[in-house]
Amino acid sequence: MEEHKNEEQLEQVSTQDADDTEEYEKICFVCRRPESKTGKMVCLPNNICICQSCMQKAVDSMESSGLSYQDLMNMSGLMGMPEPPEQKPEEKQSSGKQSKPKMTNISMINLSDLMNFIPQRQRVKKKKPREETVKKTFDPKSIPAPHKIKASLDEYVIGQEHAKKVISVAVYNHYKRIATGTMDDIEIEKSNMLMIGPTGSGKTYLVKTLAKLLDVPLAIADATSLTEAGYIGDDIESVISRLLAAADNDVERAEQGIVFIDEIDKIAKKRNANQRDVSGESVQQGMLKLLEGSEIEVPVGATSKNAMVPMETVNTKNILFICGGAFPGLEDIIKERLNKQAAIGFCGDLKDKYDDDPNILSKVTVEDIRNFGMIPEFIGRLPIIYTLQGLTRDMLVQILKEPRNAIIKQYKKLLALDEVNLEFEDGALEAIAERALEKKTGARALRAIIEEIMLDIMYEIPKDDNIGSVCITRAYIENTGGPVISLRTAGLLPG
Ligand code: ADP
Repeated sequence: MEEHKNEEQLEQVSTQDADDTEEYEKICFVCRRPESKTGKMVCLPNNICICQSCMQKAVDSMESSGLSYQDLMNMSGLMGMPEPPEQKPEEKQSSGKQSKPKMTNISMINLSDLMNFIPQRQRVKKKKPREETVKKTFDPKSIPAPHKIKASLDEYVIGQEHAKKVISVAVYNHYKRIATGTMDDIEIEKSNMLMIGPTGSGKTYLVKTLAKLLDVPLAIADATSLTEAGYIGDDIESVISRLLAAADNDVERAEQGIVFIDEIDKIAKKRNANQRDVSGESVQQGMLKLLEGSEIEVPVGATSKNAMVPMETVNTKNILFICGGAFPGLEDIIKERLNKQAAIGFCGDLKDKYDDDPNILSKVTVEDIRNFGMIPEFIGRLPIIYTLQGLTRDMLVQILKEPRNAIIKQYKKLLALDEVNLEFEDGALEAIAERALEKKTGARALRAIIEEIMLDIMYEIPKDDNIGSVCITRAYIENTGGPVISLRTAGLLPG
């Protein structure tokens, strides 16, 4: 029985291997480029493939060093290849040349072992035939209308109505633009976006949800880790590598994906910098061609280029770039500008008019962002700029209970598995939101607070089978009382 199982497993593995070779591209053993770039490859035994240009180079260098094709064949033992058939003695004589010593007995390394070293994540998927992709990606009807995109976002993201509306329209236009392609003379401009909002207000969450809803690959990168090529840190192009990984190394899928670059405010131009600004302005410069659309050669399965990593060319023309950041200090720049404007003319305003305006961020202009330290060329390539609001107490309460995967719902489900009903008093939710507000990290604080509160409950409840329901009260959150626990009625007792 066991043996039979093992055989079955082996069979499965071998068929999987066969699928793999059909699905993934061959990679040149010498230059590591995939077959789609090199053209037809010469396949040698033991899965070794060599592209024609490398093969030619090898033959050329052999010839220039005085070795003949026959010597090359004699050396095949080195590559783990079968030996060529022996030449007959008369043939040898008729060739007239004295043959060079044979090297068949030397076996230093079996190159085919090295070939099997390519990890799964570094293998490149074959491009699908043209017609198939045309059907899949160039159908504008498959893109939901903006109001539908927004309605789906509403299920997950609380508040941020303006941001959701802008993002829905922009994404709709972006994919429509891809769908129409170059059919028109009027080329629709790319709708890269800049999202400004306080930390924990849902910037990343919004993009993640969007990518999931549209089923497109998404890469999230942190601008702080990016540096100009050649310096310590990730190259700018590494974000495209990540996108390729998110698309399962499928270049065509990656070319229609979304890249979210977080903390974009951290690459603002440094003021009074005397040295070369390798992680600030230079990164902005480096990102220009990426944002606009260009062919980029990226390593597959790695974030840095080296000789052992296969390369792929990705066109960023149709990749949607969304940059996000909290832009601390931007409010002051906006206030300064507004105050200056207000002071000019007859209708002079009070100087502190904007000091307490909670929506000051929404009055941002391109000029303010430039003053913050972003270079004009960079902002120019992010034509859609919008802001997210800081979360209020009521929004935090909603986040706790309303989204599809709300934290409260998750805990309810967990306890329901133990047949215990979990309830939260409205006051308790408000108290949690108030505590989260104090931490000033937006909705991110909620999870930590709930985890802390629920620890004891999750520890104690499974101890006692008689507990039927738990209600978390405001007093429990404020450490002045305990939760209300009720026991099961006799009829409901297990057994
Ligand atoms: P940031 O704006 O700093 O990128 P995130 O998007 O990472 O913040 O938010 C952190 C977490 O907070 C998310 O995983 C999500 O669960 C929650 N969250 C934040 N804002 C919202 C919102 N408006 N609606 C629902 N959940 C939110």
